[in-house]
Amino acid sequence: AGRILQIRDLTTGFVTEKGIVKATDKVSLQLEKGQTLCLVGESGSGKSVTALSIMRLIDYAGGMVLEGSIEFHGKDLAQIGQDELRKIRGDKIAMIFQDPMSALNPVFTIGDQIAESLRLHRGLSDSAAWKEAVELLRLVGIPDPALRAKQYSHELSGGMCQRVVIAIALACRPDLLIADEPTTALDVTVQAQILDLLRNLKDELGMSIILITHDMGVAAEMADRIAVMYAGVIVEEGTVQEIFNNPSHPYTVGLLQSIPGLDGDRGKELFTIQGSIPGLGQIPTGCRFHPRCPHAMDICRSQEPSDYWITQDHRAACWLFEDNKVNKSNQRKVKG
Ligand code: SF4
Ligand code: MG
Repeated sequence: AGRILQIRDLTTGFVTEKGIVKATDKVSLQLEKGQTLCLVGESGSGKSVTALSIMRLIDYAGGMVLEGSIEFHGKDLAQIGQDELRKIRGDKIAMIFQDPMSALNPVFTIGDQIAESLRLHRGLSDSAAWKEAVELLRLVGIPDPALRAKQYSHELSGGMCQRVVIAIALACRPDLLIADEPTTALDVTVQAQILDLLRNLKDELGMSIILITHDMGVAAEMADRIAVMYAGVIVEEGTVQEIFNNPSHPYTVGLLQSIPGLDGDRGKELFTIQGSIPGLGQIPTGCRFHPRCPHAMDICRSQEPSDYWITQDHRAACWLFEDNKVNKSNQRKVKG
């Protein structure tokens, strides 16, 4: 395999009237070739900002990378200029968002939009680009692709439009696809079809995927690894099996208990984590989760926990695991 992405201590912020407010704080993540990493958490947890920072699109949203590195194929995206970044964005990293309609241009046919991307990024001629556009529509499972290519986005359903957006993203043959809540706007059946499509394309094309979702059910189906974010930090990270079989951070435990029907106990009232996620610039002292945590201790209110190992390959930032055997036997630093 090989590592495609290594993020270390990524701290980002936005300029406000009151000065710079941090949006993510020392986020460290890694992604192997051909794998899917799911970033999960409630909205406002910093998932989208993390994704935008990888492509440095945060620069256009009034934000900036304050600290840390984003090594992609060994190159630090935090350090390079916008010209070089634009090339990487078009060539190696593609991003898709929640609302497919806003990503499509209503005045061009969908075939033209895909062909345009192919001319731009792969230098294809007009006729070759059109042929390849139809091929891509076929690849993403659109029936009668030659006919559909001549249609406009308003003639297609939401699910079909998201397939088109995926086709456009694939036009540059990305090594990394970042998908921010790509199925949230779609109904359940279509959602399952799009997730299937992403999984198949990943296997077929050998891409890596960062999938952002607030839905633990989606993460369960898609992820190789899961990183749980809360208030701008990663509170727990591990393999999908570890996160679901051995959830350790109280926030992750709360998220899992909020999934309807997961334990088959339909009559049971859904657990909801009390309180709400703090806003930017209102981060609590100590552990950011302490105002909502059922296990909060004195130390939690004053000191931010470090990452502790749950197993050799599973970490949680929570004081409850300070004395965990794995940490005592394993002195190496978590973030590496
Ligand atoms: Fe709860 Fe303390 Fe762990 Fe934070 S560090 S999640 S407050 S037990
Ligand atoms: Mg978001």
